[in-house]
This record gives sequence, structure tokens and C-alpha cells, in this order.
Amino acid sequence: MSGPQPRPGILDIAPYVPGDSKAEGIAEPMKLASNESSLGPSPRAIAAYRAMAEKLHRYPDGASADLRGAIAKHHGLDRERVVCGNGSDELIALLTKAYAGPGDEVLFTEHAFAMYPIATLAAGAKPVVAKEKNLRADIDALVAKVTDRTRIVFQANPNNPTGSYLTKDEIERLHRALPARVLLVIDAAYAEYVTRNDYTAGTELAEKAPNVVMTRTFSKIYGLAGLRLGWMYGPAAIVDAINRTRGPFNVTLPAQAAGVAALADVAHIDQARTMNDHWLPWFSDQARALGLEVPPSVGNFVLVRFPKANGKDANAANEFLLKRGIILRKVAGYGLPDCLRVTIGNEAEMRATVAALADFMKR
Ligand SMILES: *Cc1c(COP(=O)(O)O)cnc(C)c1O
Repeated sequence: MSGPQPRPGILDIAPYVPGDSKAEGIAEPMKLASNESSLGPSPRAIAAYRAMAEKLHRYPDGASADLRGAIAKHHGLDRERVVCGNGSDELIALLTKAYAGPGDEVLFTEHAFAMYPIATLAAGAKPVVAKEKNLRADIDALVAKVTDRTRIVFQANPNNPTGSYLTKDEIERLHRALPARVLLVIDAAYAEYVTRNDYTAGTELAEKAPNVVMTRTFSKIYGLAGLRLGWMYGPAAIVDAINRTRGPFNVTLPAQAAGVAALADVAHIDQARTMNDHWLPWFSDQARALGLEVPPSVGNFVLVRFPKANGKDANAANEFLLKRGIILRKVAGYGLPDCLRVTIGNEAEMRATVAALADFMKR
């Protein structure tokens, strides 16, 4: 073969398949496929974004200093150890490239977030997958997969797409079982939705352990997925490595401004959480009452498991709901071909989805 060839691993990447955003013939579909906030962003974030329109000829602050300060203040963290990114996806990729390469292994569980294998292969490293138990990370199975070549363990908490979570004690047990040279990345994209007493986003470990990083995002409860804004918190040495490798202006001017404003609107986030606290159990119970299996979730989404029977399976359900303008997420790519993932939306979205599922099941 002549011509430039990508490095080994690159062409093994199955490109990320985003949730659908169109339903044929329906102008305004209900999009419940990407765990976006149906409440949308804070009006204060929108105003801050708009106010930057006149300044778009200026480079953003490459250090995202104001935003890092606002994040640090909001969460009680050291601003010097916050790094902002173009979505947490960028930080996941940067961490992987900085800490793993050819000959190295990156470990995560069976139904883990799709960005982990993509970032691993892009870095030339080898993805290693540990079995889950009842759609939950199994710490013993994870630890059993650690070898001399393991460089990173990714654990989303709560996990997407399963919605399950590890308790503070379990995450600490996982951390204690890992060699000091292994980086543990706790991806807490949905942390703000979790209301369990035994849960923590990972702040304490990222604060004190030399090998733990926590990643967060403005894409979910803050409703700013379109802006691409995420951040990470970790040890100074890891922060230094990421600051050396990231793009010098990786977070846009409007994203920095909107992020600061969004953090200040605590009431908006409380409203989004309250909405989820109501409609998550409501939707789960209604779907169960239709005979569907709905594993418990603590995020802003749930899995719905469909019967294997022809015409009643997840693909048939997806087609049926699409015709009604309801877009759910197929999760066969996550090893869950019997399931669809449903983002918890507002009342109208949840009632319409339950009504459509009811019609589908009694067809
Ligand atoms: C949505 C999501 C993210 C967020 O990605 P962004 O790049 O910040 O939009 C990260 N991790 C998981 C597990 C997610 O589901």
C-alpha cells in the first residue's frame, strides 16, 4: 500500500455513533437519545453566551482562569488543579494519550462509555474489558484484569448507559486494589443527578490520591452539551501533563462565559434535579407496569429491556417510537442489544413515551 497510513489501532476504532436527532417526517421530535437536559441551559448562561458575540475576534483566555476559579469555588477545590476541556471527551482523550501508548493496556467494564475504547485505540493502547455483574461494575473482576501493562482504569460513576453506580466505599476499595502507577479516572458526568447518601463524585479521592482524576461536564444537568465544556480535577503532576498537551485555546470564549454564569444559577440546577427525581421513578414504574424490565438508575436516563420475541424487540420498539417522533438510544454498541436507553425528560416527553410504549406492547 502506498500513501500515508494511520498508526496501528486507528483503523480498529469503531467510530462513535451519536444518538439520533431526526425522526423522518416529524418536524419537532422528542429527543431522548443523548441524555441532554430537556430543561435547557440557565437563562443566565444563554445571556453570557450572547454577550460574547461581539468579542469573537478575540482569543479566549487559554488558562480558562475565571471559569476554573468559579468551578473551584463552587466545589470547594484548588483552582490550580482544575483543567477545563472542550467537553470531558477531550479530557478523556488527553489523559489517555498522556498516560497510555503502544504496548499499554487501558481497562474498563463491559458496558462502559464508548469514548474509552475510542480514546484507547487512538493512543495506540489496548482496550481491556472486565465483566459486569447485573449491569454493575464488578470490582473484583476489574482488579483481576490488572496486569503489568495496565496504565489507566476508566470508571464512569454513575455509569452510562446502565445507570448503576458504585458507592464511595466501593470506589475506595477499587482504588486501594490498584497499583500506584495505574491512573484511576472517575468520570462523574451525571454526579449532580445522584441523590444517594453513599455516593460521591470522587472529589475526595481526586483531592488526596496521587493517581486519581475526576472528570465532570456541563453537557448534562447544566444543559450546555452544544457548547462543549468539561473539566477535570486531579493531582498537580497530572494537571501539569494535561496542560502541556492540550490545545492552548481549547475552551472557547462563549463556553467559558456561559460556564461561569451556569455555575452561579444554583436554582436552575436544583430545578433540573427535582424534575429528574420526579420523572425518573415515575417513568421506571410505568415501564415496569407494562411488563418491561427497567434496571435501577441514578442518572437522568434508564435502560428499558425488551422481550427477545420477533416484533417486540428493542429494534422494533425503536422503529415504532420513531414513527411517533420519539427518539431513544439504541445501545447494541454497548453490548445491550435487547435494550433502549431513554433520557428522562419533562412531563410531556415522559407521558408520550409511556403512551407509545404501552401501544407498542399491546400491538
Ligand atoms: C455524556 C457523557 C460525558 C460527557 O461528555 P462531554 O464531552 O463532556 O459532553 C462523559 N462521560 C460519560 C459517561 C457521559 O455519558
